[in-house]
Amino acid sequence: MASEKLTEISQHPSPSEDAGADVADYLLGSDLSKLRGWVEARSASFLRSADAGERSPIRRVREKFRSCEVPDTAMALDDYLSLLDQDVLPHCSSLASPRYLGHMTSPIPGFLPELGRLVQTLNQNVVKMETSGSLTFVERQVLGMLHKETYGFDTAFYDRRVQDRDSTLGLFASGGTIANLTALRAAKQRASVHAGGGARMAVIGSELMHYSFAKGADLMGLELRRVPVDEQNRMLPAALEREIEACEAEGVTVAALIAIAGTTEFGSVDPLASICRLGQARNIHVHVDAAWGGGFLLSPRNRHILAGIELADTVTIDGHKQLMVPLGCGMLFFRDPEVSKTIMHHAPYAVRPNSEDQGRFTLEGTRPATAIYVHAALHLIGKSVYDALFSASLERTRIMARHIEGMPEFELTSRPDMNILTYRYIPEAMRGTTPGPADNHRISRFNVALQRAQRDKGDSFVSRTFRPVSRHGDEPLALLRAVLLNPRTTEDDILFLLRDQVGIARELENSPAFHE
Ligand SMILES: *Cc1c(COP(=O)(O)O)cnc(C)c1O
Repeated sequence: MASEKLTEISQHPSPSEDAGADVADYLLGSDLSKLRGWVEARSASFLRSADAGERSPIRRVREKFRSCEVPDTAMALDDYLSLLDQDVLPHCSSLASPRYLGHMTSPIPGFLPELGRLVQTLNQNVVKMETSGSLTFVERQVLGMLHKETYGFDTAFYDRRVQDRDSTLGLFASGGTIANLTALRAAKQRASVHAGGGARMAVIGSELMHYSFAKGADLMGLELRRVPVDEQNRMLPAALEREIEACEAEGVTVAALIAIAGTTEFGSVDPLASICRLGQARNIHVHVDAAWGGGFLLSPRNRHILAGIELADTVTIDGHKQLMVPLGCGMLFFRDPEVSKTIMHHAPYAVRPNSEDQGRFTLEGTRPATAIYVHAALHLIGKSVYDALFSASLERTRIMARHIEGMPEFELTSRPDMNILTYRYIPEAMRGTTPGPADNHRISRFNVALQRAQRDKGDSFVSRTFRPVSRHGDEPLALLRAVLLNPRTTEDDILFLLRDQVGIARELENSPAFHE
């Protein structure tokens, strides 16, 4: 690297013209072979590691990042890499471990980070055609492909619409949050036509709605109303109907109904067809939040889980969850592309009304060409491999549920619709009887302690949530939550994790704190 040169330059307060050329040379033309080797080695060890947790107390990690001084002079590359080696890499989350079953992020196929380097090098900005060229059309093509998987219109429809400059079949966003916000915006526009300005407006979904809807409601001045779920964590259409009627009685316009296809906490799927029909009958926009579950559309054997999704006005799908592409691949789809026209924005210097610019439709401005990742994954993975992946993932979930049910230490607290399940540990003294509210409170405290101890031990990992379980009443309970996304996770890993938890739990049960 030319870092000595830059150090020299940075130490001369008024650089000569030569120094300008040196700066450009340093920034744009340096030899990267050493850095590439280093990245390669660190990536390989990240992917190999079976560690599933954090072995240093988080307090100690935090202490490493207190300095707010920007260096006056450039640091030597070796020193910078040592800094990453010492302070950063050992403490990042072990998402690739087959025993990390905690969250919605998994290791991604190796070809994608390689393409990521290309995406970052080209640095195309898909906000407008002038800064992205072909990438604008790639993005629209990918949206067309997944729109077809979602809604299944005929070839003539896609021929006419996929590159139609007046509207769009969908849009890319940094994530499901922005996609959901965009859907709310479209719904609000539609409702405003009937309700007029200044009307009170509400969005109705189940109590398991993702918190992005609370953000959207807050930004857009909408009321958020939550209706209960059944014992399978699916929204009750009858309760939804009652809430719509309550809104009507109060003079509140219902701007949107939200159905969830794969809740964040349980993976449960709302009755999509019933909710969509309810919306159609009452001329209310229905949005399906399939951020988590939408990937199943690419699995011919399992897409029936999402039956009814084709009736939704808008659908959110996160590529960076189940489709195993890098972060930054949120997508929103419009069943009727004409709806996209209702959320258009322009700027005279850049995003022009009669252009090809996708920026006319997006809440975000500058955006990277993450569509390449989905484009590559659809071509290089294809539906048959996705089908195998999703089937294996569901099978893994069933295996884990079976083991949990077969072990007296655990109680399965949700039947999985998809590849997420929740359960809890029951301390030995409390097994065999139906726990009352005070017992449940103690069991919850125990499970929180167990989840923390497991994370600190670092050999396996699940997350936790806090929700009611219908057979135990309305009080929220602490639940362990396993997300079975990582294709490397085997039955042995699952057994390892459950036994790891039993071992940790026994120690906790024998500790004096437990008996207080
Ligand atoms: C993850 C998720 C979101 C939010 O997506 P981000 O990509 O994190 O912004 C929204 N809804 C559901 C159901 C999700 O699982």
